[in-house]
Amino acid sequence: MTKQLNSRIPEGPVAEKWTNYKAHQRLVNPKNKLKLDVIVVGTGLAGASAAASLGEMGFNVLNFCIQDSPRRAHSIAAQGGINAAKNYQNDGDSIYRLFYDTVKGGDYRAREANVYRLAEVSNNIIDQCVAQGVPFAREYGGMLANRSFGGAQVSRTFYAKGQTGQQLLLGAYSSLSRQVEAGKVKLFTRYEMEDLVIVDGRARGIIAKNLVTGKLERFSANAVVIATGGYGNTYFLSTNAMGCNCSAAMACYRRGAYFANPSYVQIHPTCIPVHGDKQSKLTLMSESLRNDGRIWVPKKLEDAKKLQRGEIKGSDIPEEDRDYYLERRYPAFGNLVPRDVASRAAKERCDKGYGVNNTGLAVFLDFSESINRLGYDEIMQRYGNLFDMYEEITDVNPGKLANEINGVKYYNPMMIFPAIHYTMGGIWVDYELMTTIPGLFAIGECNFSDHGANRLGASALMQGLADGYFVLPYTIQNYLADQSIWPRLSTDMPEFEEAEKHVNDQIDHLMNIKGKRSVDSIHKELGHIMWEHVGMGRTKEGLQEGLRLMKELRKEFESNLFVPGKKEGLNTELDKAIHLRDFITMGELIAYDALHREESCGGHFREEHQTEEGEAKRDDENFFYVGCWEYQGDDNKAPELIKEPLEYEAIKVQTRNYKN
Ligand SMILES: Cc1cc2nc3c(=O)[nH]c(=O)nc-3n(C[C@H](O)[C@H](O)[C@H](O)COP(=O)(O)OP(=O)(O)OC[C@H]3O[C@@H](n4cnc5c(N)ncnc54)[C@H](O)[C@@H]3O)c2cc1C
Repeated sequence: MTKQLNSRIPEGPVAEKWTNYKAHQRLVNPKNKLKLDVIVVGTGLAGASAAASLGEMGFNVLNFCIQDSPRRAHSIAAQGGINAAKNYQNDGDSIYRLFYDTVKGGDYRAREANVYRLAEVSNNIIDQCVAQGVPFAREYGGMLANRSFGGAQVSRTFYAKGQTGQQLLLGAYSSLSRQVEAGKVKLFTRYEMEDLVIVDGRARGIIAKNLVTGKLERFSANAVVIATGGYGNTYFLSTNAMGCNCSAAMACYRRGAYFANPSYVQIHPTCIPVHGDKQSKLTLMSESLRNDGRIWVPKKLEDAKKLQRGEIKGSDIPEEDRDYYLERRYPAFGNLVPRDVASRAAKERCDKGYGVNNTGLAVFLDFSESINRLGYDEIMQRYGNLFDMYEEITDVNPGKLANEINGVKYYNPMMIFPAIHYTMGGIWVDYELMTTIPGLFAIGECNFSDHGANRLGASALMQGLADGYFVLPYTIQNYLADQSIWPRLSTDMPEFEEAEKHVNDQIDHLMNIKGKRSVDSIHKELGHIMWEHVGMGRTKEGLQEGLRLMKELRKEFESNLFVPGKKEGLNTELDKAIHLRDFITMGELIAYDALHREESCGGHFREEHQTEEGEAKRDDENFFYVGCWEYQGDDNKAPELIKEPLEYEAIKVQTRNYKN
């Protein structure tokens, strides 16, 4: 029998669904809230906002993170900003336009109803954060300032210099701290969720490892929320923090939660290029730089060759010999095309030999025109900390005057290249953000929900905070409404015993391999396989080869891994080994999904499916669905595909166009 998924989308026109849902959902009365415990795993923007909100509402919250403080969650790295449809610029924005841009940006592969709700609550997020004291940038008159991000023709991005994620996280953290002080949230820092405990078919607890003592501990609750971020580090090199991992999501997947659209991985166009094989991290240069920076490569191949040999610098090439290829190919959006489009265009130029550094894998991001037009001080005010960051890493100051040709001043351009940045795929959730396991919810980057095949810049923070502050606090009540009649579960139950034993056995297994290879050396190899075969341009043969290599790598991992130290106490190598085991499974999942999806859409580009102009070619007739994968009881077995058909009522599905 074909397995069916119920996405529980409420009745009614798309603009009324959320209002109708809230009017009719079940609520939990204040007395019963006191009897209900909720585990929230993660303290990034999604987890912290959810934990703070649920605590404020009266639930008892157990909140976990792997760092030593919630403030160190990866969300702190977000630079550029957060979208909302406030229309402060009076430039034609609206909830509908944000909804439309997000669906179009995602290449028509997102669930319409979820995206409309996201656009609808976006404005509440800004109000909430301003009330918390988040220092958003302001205009001279006091109005909150906005800038533009890719995939939109309006300015709707709210920002706090280049540190928006940090400031938003401090806001969420202060709300969380209030609940910790009030005794409604209990924080477990340096704890890592290792497994999910299911009792009578419902998520009823977790097994977590105390990362300092190495001890496994059991926690029970009435519902579990995971907010554990994305899986970009499967590729080893990415813009994500080094600690980002997908182990909690994989634990849920192995216990029966479906994993949706894993092949939708975002490759960000503006990152500092790879500079050697000893590197373990890539640095993002915020998309906000594309507001004023212009992306180019030389028009002449001989200039590119000279750049590659180090014989000339970018500032030696005059205006007429520069190819601003995004402005040339996409006149309507220019440098502000969505990330997938900009990344592929950079790859196309570099593949043709126009790359501008010694590896041929870089393009220029240039501020000469904007500095000449607006002045150095203005550009520094907008991007000063990003310029400093670039200089610290590369020793090149992009604000420094480097040449003057025919009376035109040229400044040092930045060099950039695409890198793995964000994952649109994730644990499948219905409209209520509940997974296929009753009582298990997934929020923020770790779910698949709102971005389709490509996320627009500044929309991840919006989604994480929408989920945590404004969506989950409603929808989880619909689930918890009849749960207070059940007594608290004892963690001595056999289900907890079994889960803990399972984790313990796995850890013993890893410690006992006693091979010769470090975790990082195997992870780096996985990253090479992923980038080469499951990266920006994918083919059937390449994906099959990638899967074959990953299966071999798993055997190498299982037979030749070396984890130093003991399982007791602090052992970061052991923790990394657990993450790597799960990244290998994740890598295969991405490849299976990419192999089956015989079309190009958003971040998933199958070279067999492109137009004559090299644009992505979708196949709506055969692939207009969410691809969900079900675990088959063994990491070595191929997962099974289950489809959630997409239904669009408010938006006409058409070919994406950023040209006119
Ligand atoms: C460099 C960079 C810049 C970015 N800039 C922007 C931007 O300007 N605008 C925008 O919208 N988006 C941006 N993004 C994307 C955005 O930052 C993330 O998508 C978002 O912050 C993810 O939030 P989250 O709460 O879902 O997860 P995270 O912030 O990744 O938090 C995950 C949490 O889960 C915890 N955790 C993980 N695994 C476990 C486990 N097994 N057990 C216990 N705890 C666990 C971690 O400790 C952490 O607390 C950027 C991303 C990067 C990499």
